[in-house]
Amino acid sequence: MTREELLGRLRSRREWPVLIVGGGINGAGVLRDLALQGIDALLVTRGDFSEGATAGSSRMIHGGLRYLEQAEFRLVQESLAERNGLLRHARHYVKPLRTVIPVFSWTGGLKEAVLKMFRLGSRTGKRGAVWVKIGLSFYDYYVRRQRVVPRHHFDSAAASLRLVPQLNPGIKCTAVYHDAWVTYPERLCHEVVMDARAAHPVLAINHMSASALDSGSVELRCEITGETFRVRPQVVVNATGAWIDETNGRLGSKTEFIGGTKGSHLVLDYPELHKALDGQILYENPEGRVCLVFPFHDRIIVGSTDIPVNSPDEARCDDREIDYILGSAQGILPGFRFERSRIVSRFSAVRPLPRSNAGTTGQVSRDHSCRLSVPREGRPFPVYSLIGGKWTTFRAFAEQVTDRVLRDLRKKRIRSTAGEDIGGGRGMPDSEEGPESWIRSHPALGAQPPDRRQELVSRYGTRAAEVAEFIAEGEDLPLTSVRGYTTREIRFFCEREDVARLNDVLMRRTSLAILGRLTPAGLDEIASICANSLGWDVVRLNGEKTRSLRTLESELGITFTQSIQ
Ligand SMILES: Cc1cc2nc3c(=O)[nH]c(=O)nc-3n(C[C@H](O)[C@H](O)[C@H](O)COP(=O)(O)OP(=O)(O)OC[C@H]3O[C@@H](n4cnc5c(N)ncnc54)[C@H](O)[C@@H]3O)c2cc1C
Repeated sequence: MTREELLGRLRSRREWPVLIVGGGINGAGVLRDLALQGIDALLVTRGDFSEGATAGSSRMIHGGLRYLEQAEFRLVQESLAERNGLLRHARHYVKPLRTVIPVFSWTGGLKEAVLKMFRLGSRTGKRGAVWVKIGLSFYDYYVRRQRVVPRHHFDSAAASLRLVPQLNPGIKCTAVYHDAWVTYPERLCHEVVMDARAAHPVLAINHMSASALDSGSVELRCEITGETFRVRPQVVVNATGAWIDETNGRLGSKTEFIGGTKGSHLVLDYPELHKALDGQILYENPEGRVCLVFPFHDRIIVGSTDIPVNSPDEARCDDREIDYILGSAQGILPGFRFERSRIVSRFSAVRPLPRSNAGTTGQVSRDHSCRLSVPREGRPFPVYSLIGGKWTTFRAFAEQVTDRVLRDLRKKRIRSTAGEDIGGGRGMPDSEEGPESWIRSHPALGAQPPDRRQELVSRYGTRAAEVAEFIAEGEDLPLTSVRGYTTREIRFFCEREDVARLNDVLMRRTSLAILGRLTPAGLDEIASICANSLGWDVVRLNGEKTRSLRTLESELGITFTQSIQ
């Protein structure tokens, strides 16, 4: 459906069983679950799908080793099961990740960890090998019946330094275990939305905010044209992450559920470091702060911070954080130089954590919860607010919320999401040789040159077949100023993937912006294709370009010295 057709559906229907506000991974997850139960749900999100914490995460799909220290055993167990589920059902985007923890003592941090676990202390010491061993043994134990990644082991200091000679020579050993990472989180979230649509005629619209409560109706506002709509839901799911309290305020309830913390990351162009890491992540947790050095496509992500903030709209990676992040990475890998000149982009987002009196941000629970605001005068529907949670656990969280919504609607669950493949993970062959025979059974894809079809499969999973068919329907040329993409591929996003703004393509249908691959000419070229495909006139086209330049600078720290045409 085009955007105009989606808006037409919204204009023609006011009564909805469920309104989901927020199209990050949690809102998308609830939409998919409700769709699978045959519920007519409407989802609106202020910006694009997957904006917010969903696009700003560390991109790890993990059990959360450090949560064991806070005695969050349930969360770790659930996260590990969900991690395994995503490795299976979203295997086109979720990949195993060899994770290496440099260990600097044998018994360090034990006393602090035990005190912390029993809520008798808040300090986190430098974790020694014994403590890491206990944690990783729990990790392995939890997935003993569902092993999809290898067990943990320890490497001696000498062996570790042989593998990565630039590591801090003060290490006693390294602990090696496996978690997972997500290659295109923004695309994966959007696929969850598209799967919901495929399962049932739900309505999901981006660039549409829930702006106010008006005589028992919710007013929605199109962020592009300013047009307003009114809907009357039976139940509202508030999945607006760090904006939950603000959204509740708009819906007539004062809440203080969220105590968000900002987390920032840097993306570096560092081929030598990328080669040395050889696909593995270095993960350290000094004094409760997470420090990771992580090969992301052909770049390196380093991060992150954990700083309380009041206004999620203003969260940006600032100068102090840059120094801190580079300094932390330098401590793990003194053999490399972490300099500002390596930075190609930076990003920041706010974790929607529960408001808490914990002494440090690291102590705040990363578990998720769902808070109910019961109907009251002027607001005839209940509101469920989705607090906290991790990317990793979105399916389980969505299931718990959906069950509560179903109870309110007096409906029964008819299907679980636990066994559902996601998007291009559906039918994705899992062996190394598998993709080639699968590709041969899709003529349009098979007709592409070998490198290109591999690229399409790694970018879209089995949806590569649909992309290739679309490409084959018209004249397709490689973009002249952006490597790896073609004109029809950009058109595909515009016509099939809810693109309403230039930034949707630059920042979320592709990873071009975050990977620092954009040039002024590239931005111009992509903008022209979008204009052509979506019927933008010159005023709209120039407005989109100006807007993109502003966002790239303010949110990703990307500035161009050359001007845009
Ligand atoms: C720095 C950082 C690192 C992280 N790393 C990891 C990790 O490695 N692994 C992991 O599992 N988890 C990680 N997480 C946690 C995970 O990313 C989040 O918990 C998850 O993405 C939250 O998703 P959400 O849908 O609840 O919120 P969000 O993704 O923030 O989505 C909320 C959406 O609501 C929209 N919205 C706001 N107001 C309105 C309105 N009035 N009307 C309509 N829409 C509105 C926003 O625009 C936004 O798109 C990390 C989080 C952060 C911030």
